[in-house]
Amino acid sequence: MGHAVVVGGGIGGLTAALALRAKGWSVAVYERAPALEAVGAGLAVAPNGLRALDVVGVGDRIREAAAFGEAAAGVRSHDGTWLIKTDRRAAEERWGDLAVVVPRARLVAALAERLGAEALHLGVTVEGVDPDSGTVTTTAGTAEGDLVVAADGIRSPTRAALFPDHPGPVYSGETTWRWLLPRVEMTVGGVEYWGPTGAIATMPLADRALYMYAAALVPAGERADDEREVLLDRFGDWPEPLPELLATTEPGSVLRSDVHHLATPLPAFHKGRVAVLGDAAHAMVPHLGQGACQAIEDAVVLAHEIAHGDGLPGYTRARLPRCTKVAADSLSTMRLSMARHFVPIALRNTGLRIAARVAPRAGLRRLDPILTWRPPEA
Ligand SMILES: Cc1cc2nc3c(=O)[nH]c(=O)nc-3n(C[C@H](O)[C@H](O)[C@H](O)COP(=O)(O)OP(=O)(O)OC[C@H]3O[C@@H](n4cnc5c(N)ncnc54)[C@H](O)[C@@H]3O)c2cc1C
Repeated sequence: MGHAVVVGGGIGGLTAALALRAKGWSVAVYERAPALEAVGAGLAVAPNGLRALDVVGVGDRIREAAAFGEAAAGVRSHDGTWLIKTDRRAAEERWGDLAVVVPRARLVAALAERLGAEALHLGVTVEGVDPDSGTVTTTAGTAEGDLVVAADGIRSPTRAALFPDHPGPVYSGETTWRWLLPRVEMTVGGVEYWGPTGAIATMPLADRALYMYAAALVPAGERADDEREVLLDRFGDWPEPLPELLATTEPGSVLRSDVHHLATPLPAFHKGRVAVLGDAAHAMVPHLGQGACQAIEDAVVLAHEIAHGDGLPGYTRARLPRCTKVAADSLSTMRLSMARHFVPIALRNTGLRIAARVAPRAGLRRLDPILTWRPPEA
């Protein structure tokens, strides 16, 4: 067994450190921020992500932290019509596990606690990685890794150095808003609403808290003094409970992010001794809620390939086609959900409504290849 240096203490890097340690490796994670991520937003963890988290011993902590209302879930049009309708039981039966939503910070904290403080070097920036020797230069000195894991996010400096010809991230065309409502007394389901001014969603959390997000197609960089006003303009006359929930949203709690993604896949997910993982390798638009789930899968497959498989080439072979496909499916879902004009919206909604009558499970079936994934067995 060897020593792994992990660049980045996000969801991908922390999971990779845990997965490698479970295979007998020693690990050190270098994170440039002085504290771990505590973004005030939720995160959907799908059955595939939960099964991968089970491998590192964190799956049940996330299942326990989630809320399970019995309200219908799915997608509705901005006039309130159901386009895709499901419920907790149908999803669980189909994919063999739950799809849960938890505060992001909860998952990061669960991973970090399991890893332990001694493996985590906060406030240390990685300044360079030599892929041949595994030497990592940081603001706190140098470290040597038999393996280096580049989990340094969408703007990954390591990816840019390893693959200088790759164009890097590009703007997807959409901006997103995310916020938490600490306590909501009404019953709200996990529902995404689609209409001409964008998409908006309600995702129940434990203890009657609610995670909401919204998205719209606008030029990059637009910002408002009060983002809640922008949300009210776009979604304030959509069906209840949206207007009421927007009215109780704390303006300062709304986090706005322009979404970039890697539109061009990398030629490989490794070079020399370096594995590239998570958003650094395949940042995707969030419309299937799979970015972090794929990072978690990457971590578990990387450790498996290193311990029992074909090493880094095996990791690229196992992950690159799958992540490229999930990213492409996420982009198609974004295009479907973000249609802005009357004719494409009418065609989409009619098609989905007919499909729901003729083949009620068709909307769920297309997710099977993503959500039925299981971790490799040793
Ligand atoms: C609006 C939105 C909603 C989303 N919703 C979901 C969802 O519901 N479900 C889901 O599965 N995914 C979702 N995602 C995607 C998910 O957030 C990302 O895919 C995931 O966070 C990627 O994790 P990561 O560890 O690869 O990268 P990051 O979380 O970006 O972590 C990278 C870390 O590396 C550190 N770092 C960078 N450079 C250096 C350096 N030089 N030295 C040291 N440290 C460094 C950074 O500080 C950071 O902590 C969403 C994304 C967006 C934008």
